[in-house]
Amino acid sequence: MLSIQNVSVTYPNETEKALSQLSFNIKQGEFVCILGRSGAGKSTFIRTLNGLQPVTEGSIHVKGANVRQLSEKETRKLRTGVGMIFQHFNLIPRLSVKQNVLTGRFGQKPAYQNFFGLFSKQELSLAEYYLKEVGLLNYAERRVEHLSGGQKQRVGIARAMMQEPFILLGDEPVASLDPNTSKNIFKLLTTLHEERGLTTVINVHDVDLAKKFSSRILGLKKGELVFDGQPNELTDAVYNEIY
Ligand code: ADP
Repeated sequence: MLSIQNVSVTYPNETEKALSQLSFNIKQGEFVCILGRSGAGKSTFIRTLNGLQPVTEGSIHVKGANVRQLSEKETRKLRTGVGMIFQHFNLIPRLSVKQNVLTGRFGQKPAYQNFFGLFSKQELSLAEYYLKEVGLLNYAERRVEHLSGGQKQRVGIARAMMQEPFILLGDEPVASLDPNTSKNIFKLLTTLHEERGLTTVINVHDVDLAKKFSSRILGLKKGELVFDGQPNELTDAVYNEIY
């Protein structure tokens, strides 16, 4: 599904690499958590996967296609299949929950159709389907600004699912949430993953969440891959190496 080969990223005017010579594959249906200290390169890595961050060296193949060699049109098409959830949710506060979820569909529509009211019946019922799945159907008409953090992230997840993604990426999606809410968000993510075999790649600070919910953990340190294994292989020694 994803093949990362010798990938390095150096930001303009920086001498140190934010990512250094990463090489590994991610298979269809894996639930991968990426651990590392602040500044380790986790966010940079996630952004390379959806094409928001170009790589300086190496290559990323997504479903067999070299991301660097795609045309603009092909890149846009690829991105519509990449769902993304964010630490600060990136929702539109004054719009309703349902309207925010529907914006997940924008990538699939020609620009002139990007107005509310132009969603098909199918899309409207798909939005309701995902709102039900994330437990927010009763909040559909409520403005997002009135929701709690955990509810906002559920909207973010429903919006990503509206893209009917082949992969779901998360850039610290629970870093702004309390421990219990974080756990519930991870439970929801594993349900979506298990029901659909949805490939999921999430950055997370909390080692316990990664150990409990992922099928594989990648550890980054100063841009380098220092651990790649199953949750039960993450021993205290490995933990000390990553942190
Ligand atoms: P993490 O997500 O693990 O906290 P990041 O990917 O945000 O790590 O950052 C990795 C490294 O790249 C850090 O040294 C950070 O300072 C640097 N960095 C991140 N974004 C930029 C940027 N836009 N310009 C320059 N340096 C950056």
